[in-house]
Amino acid sequence: MSEGFFISKLEWLIGWGRKYSLWPLPFGTACCAIEFMSSVSSHYDISRFGAEVVRFSPRQADLMIVAGTITYKQVPVLKRIYAQMPEPKWVIVMGNCACSGGIFDTYSTHQGVDMEIPVDVYVTGCPPRPEALIDAIVKVQEMAQRGEWHGSRKRQKAG
Ligand code: SF4
Repeated sequence: MSEGFFISKLEWLIGWGRKYSLWPLPFGTACCAIEFMSSVSSHYDISRFGAEVVRFSPRQADLMIVAGTITYKQVPVLKRIYAQMPEPKWVIVMGNCACSGGIFDTYSTHQGVDMEIPVDVYVTGCPPRPEALIDAIVKVQEMAQRGEWHGSRKRQKAG
């Protein structure tokens, strides 16, 4: 068998391992964070997807979940925490506020997290239901299996 066969199999195996061991870091600021708590609790049980190890240290997390209203004052903290996460890393924005400011078109409310950090999956709703967040986690799992993430240098270079 060729060397390429083993390399592609190894890449698949690494992707499979990442897919079932996502460690979420919640950047929860408002009511959507309550819905996130519901998603990790026993009724919805995201441990079925290997994503139950919630971490509040960015160095131990590879999936940031931004849940809630983001103000301009919070942006430097958000960017710093994202920068501290090791690659590969994924970002889910949960709720209309994090996606686009939602109903808060005000002087202090940021109008979309993707203007500051790369976002992989958007979950709209006010708040989105836990099933919608689980669907987003499954999408991230598929990206992890393929070795893709929007913050990757390769993608950033491609523009
Ligand atoms: S989208 Fe709705 S539920 Fe979520 S943080 Fe904004 S106002 Fe709260």
